[in-house]
Amino acid sequence: MSLLREAERCIANQKSHVSLNAFITALQPSGQWREQARDAELRAQQAQPKSKVDGRLIAIKDNICTRNFPTTCASGILDKFSSPFNATVVEQLERAGAIVAGKTNLDEFGMGSHSINSRFGPVQGVRHGRDAEPFSAGGSSGGSAVAVATDQCYVALGTDTGGSVRLPAAYTGTVGFKPSYGLISRWGVVAYANSLDTVGILGRNTADVRDVFNIVNQHDRRDPTNLSPSSRSRIFSHLQTPSLASRMTKTPLRIGVPIEYNIAELEPSVLHAWLRSLVYLEQQGHSIHPVSLPTTKLALSAYYVLAPAEASSNLAKYDGVRYGTPFEDVDGHKQSQGYLYANTRGHGLGSEVRKRIVLGAFSLSADAMDNYFIQAQRVRRLVQRDFNSIFKAEQPLASHWPDVEPASVKSGVDVIICPTAPSPPPRTSNLMHPDTASSPLDAYVSDVFTVPASLAGLPAVSVPVTGSTNDLDAENGGLTGIQVVGQYGDDELVLKVGELLEGKQL
Ligand code: GLN
Repeated sequence: MSLLREAERCIANQKSHVSLNAFITALQPSGQWREQARDAELRAQQAQPKSKVDGRLIAIKDNICTRNFPTTCASGILDKFSSPFNATVVEQLERAGAIVAGKTNLDEFGMGSHSINSRFGPVQGVRHGRDAEPFSAGGSSGGSAVAVATDQCYVALGTDTGGSVRLPAAYTGTVGFKPSYGLISRWGVVAYANSLDTVGILGRNTADVRDVFNIVNQHDRRDPTNLSPSSRSRIFSHLQTPSLASRMTKTPLRIGVPIEYNIAELEPSVLHAWLRSLVYLEQQGHSIHPVSLPTTKLALSAYYVLAPAEASSNLAKYDGVRYGTPFEDVDGHKQSQGYLYANTRGHGLGSEVRKRIVLGAFSLSADAMDNYFIQAQRVRRLVQRDFNSIFKAEQPLASHWPDVEPASVKSGVDVIICPTAPSPPPRTSNLMHPDTASSPLDAYVSDVFTVPASLAGLPAVSVPVTGSTNDLDAENGGLTGIQVVGQYGDDELVLKVGELLEGKQL
């Protein structure tokens, strides 16, 4: 199909799927994108495309700054904000010829697991299989995932702090990739929890995701947490010995199965999909090894101390003076200075965000600091050690981490495989209805398998696998997200293993 036709189809789908609420701001049908797609088509005909995404529509999560669209973070406090600049990732993609397909809906500032905490209303997931009732799109990049799943764009960018790209991918049957921390620039990405935030990529398949990753996986000196060129080449030479190709083809992979991930909350359908994936990989000649990640049980609690702590600090700037729409009363009057902050923040921020600010401010307060924030930092370090003790490859930046245990080379594994989420997506009606609404803790538990890789900064991808139609999970079309996690910097191996499983009927 021609690039122009493809773009037209996506725009038509944006219109016909408007009820899914995937976009906060979508492209105008009469916009400049037509010329851009036509130009890209000419370049393609002359065999001179700018890149693999030249002329393709890429949706951008609305917490990533774009010059030509407002950036709201799905928050009332930024409802009038338009960035004067593009985030580096947007700049890189536009330079590669991509067309921004609009800004996708999310949980406010990235805080949530179902994309229902949005000032612009919840995103509706699309249920696979017999039952057409709307279900959770996952969060917080639910808009990006639904936009990809319903062909409203070619690929989409999201952000992943504790699972926000992987969980929506698992719930919508798409591929969601969170690269190693520090590979993709965060400049122009609105911070939630800086030490955990990564830009992630959602696509219909791993190959599309990789194409985008190859464009945005570059050093950016404007982001101080972005890896320098020398660290990048160190990682590359370290992990490429032996070469990736020989690790994939000549030697069978050693696949780790974390025993602690077999938790009580794991639904039978998800457990079956996990087991079938392992059997499939074994049939392909790879070997399966139980591994132990003992700190897993503490990781979720540590995450929900650390992320709100960083958030409370990051969000302090939205006070109606420095940033944020100042509160005005019904007559359009700004309140006197003494009440401006409270009113602006009280009205502009949603309840989940306010709750996290309070939690974070508490855990950082002098009396609570030692018992919460410092303990959670310790757990984070233990989670990192756990991973380093099971992977065959060493942490390539180990010299910066003097207390990291050396990896055990002989018994180590190449990647671990686990479910992305412990259960299939819940129904939106159940999440929203006051009688059946789950507690915040239920939403937090859906991140139990995604958070450890975030705490350790590791690359992880969620790929969809399907079971047979008479399977236990046939209610969701037999669709489950399986996650592949690898050593820091081993992003390409993670994608390759994801590709082995992706879309497989197991
Ligand atoms: N659900 C997690 C949270 O609410 C993760 C969110 C994210 O990765 N942005 O914090």
